[in-house]
Amino acid sequence: MSTTEPDSTLSASAFTCVRCGLTVSALDPDGGPRDHCPSCLSSRHVVDQTDGGASPCGGRMAPISIAVPRGGAWLLVHRCTLCDEMSESTVSTDDNHLVLMRIAVRPLADPPFPLDLFGEV
Ligand SMILES: [Zn+2]
Ligand SMILES: [Zn+2]
Repeated sequence: MSTTEPDSTLSASAFTCVRCGLTVSALDPDGGPRDHCPSCLSSRHVVDQTDGGASPCGGRMAPISIAVPRGGAWLLVHRCTLCDEMSESTVSTDDNHLVLMRIAVRPLADPPFPLDLFGEV
């Protein structure tokens, strides 16, 4: 074990996922900023969505939905498990595709009305 520089450089460019503990680079493969874990897609409530400043909350942001604005790129919608504030973040190319698809199809897997109606139109 060497005793060179501990976490000071790591913390600036990486964070630890609050859900699965993965060490996540703060930059995505395209060099953009990353705010959620590419494995479980969880995030942390550190930005106040109302004024854009730092949030004192620090709660876990759970991925709850996919939004698709006009541009076509997927947005991941998070909701804080502590204070219920919601946020949107861009999906990275290395985000877990299986988890993304599971979130995207969730409403279709459990619709509030019978889907066999569509067989009759
Ligand atoms: Zn994670
Ligand atoms: Zn919160």
